Amino acid sequence: MQTSLKNSPDFSQIRAQFPILQQTENGQPLVYLDNGATAQKPLSVIEAMDTYYRTQNANVHRGVYGLSERATELYEGARETVRQFLNAQSTKEIIFVRGTTEAINLVAFSWARANLTRDDEIIVTEMEHHSNIVPWQLLRDQLGIKLSVLRMNHLGEICLEALKGMVSAKTKLLAVTQMSNALGTINPVKEMVRIAHSVGAKVLVDGAQATPHMAVDVHDLDCDFYALSGHKMYGPTGIGVLYAKQALLEAMPPYQAGGDMIYSVTFEKTEYNVLPYKFEAGTPHIAGAIGLAAAIRFIESIGLEHIAAHEADLLAYATAELKKIDGLRIIGEAKHKGGVVSFVIEGVHPHDMATLMDQEGIALRASHHCAMPVMQHFNVPATIRASFGVYNNHADIDRLVAAILEAKSMLL
Ligand code: PLP
Repeated sequence: MQTSLKNSPDFSQIRAQFPILQQTENGQPLVYLDNGATAQKPLSVIEAMDTYYRTQNANVHRGVYGLSERATELYEGARETVRQFLNAQSTKEIIFVRGTTEAINLVAFSWARANLTRDDEIIVTEMEHHSNIVPWQLLRDQLGIKLSVLRMNHLGEICLEALKGMVSAKTKLLAVTQMSNALGTINPVKEMVRIAHSVGAKVLVDGAQATPHMAVDVHDLDCDFYALSGHKMYGPTGIGVLYAKQALLEAMPPYQAGGDMIYSVTFEKTEYNVLPYKFEAGTPHIAGAIGLAAAIRFIESIGLEHIAAHEADLLAYATAELKKIDGLRIIGEAKHKGGVVSFVIEGVHPHDMATLMDQEGIALRASHHCAMPVMQHFNVPATIRASFGVYNNHADIDRLVAAILEAKSMLL
């Protein structure tokens, strides 16, 4: 037992629910440590999607026949599952999209274009994923807004005082990740929301990395927008969610146009559908939404408090063991961190290390992690990143450490 909470679930049983973890890679049992990129899928998610395609498949919101009504119930039921998971006030605030990237682009193309003008300011942090930087750069180039960067310290932490000093009446949006994919830093988003709101700015929280690891309550955070990706939280790819406060969504113009987002169409005039359908043009990813709901049920069956404790234990163990390796430097040592360890090894290129890890059956990431400004901050071209999920254990970390030591002796 690796967690200290009472009634902690049996994590070896949880691991057994992931078929992919039973297979070998390059002749070795797979050790999957690239959860920051995407998580593996438990049987319950695979089966929910399989059952849908085998026995429930029909288009939603359209058919008057039973199959279509049942598919619609499942799809709308998934929306309710997400609403409860995020503690949103209404399912009108839950928009299904492809993932975090699309959710952020929706806000940039719809809300920001309708509400921002030249010289308005958007603040992003230095640790954002490219998907929470580039959409705002497009706006800067097209609308002449100002894009400002809240820097982090040498540990990879944001300073709230610095944010207080930055915001002004010109600030219209703060776009911040709740947990950094490159460093693992967990940001104090609730306090950041309060600071941004004090000058009337809206806040978009990128929850791509947070939702698999910690309980999120959008009502308590009081954020205006929240984005997540299903595939990082044990659900399928191609499905994600934009949560936004209802009043904002009501006032926002549609982002894409087509079927389902309209109430009536003539060549002279189109009336848009009510929320949330106004933002869901075309046939949605029905099986994806059903899979995402199954993933949420999977997470809730374990309990996010148990998941967080399990991953905190893995993080502490991995950090301690990796630090024993000569020449290894951890990048990102924030006090408040999720289950991500980024590191470099003196004299070894991260890509060479990851290739040798692969030969040992260990899947981890060596790259800039779509967060090039983070690499620039720490003055490294890339890092090696091990990111943990519910199925990882101490044995995975022991194999990682042993493989690094062996690779080092080959490369140096
Ligand atoms: N934001 C963060 C912090 C991420 O880690 C990622 C993916 O790695 C994204 C956004 C983009 O997510 P997606 O590719 O699912 O749209």
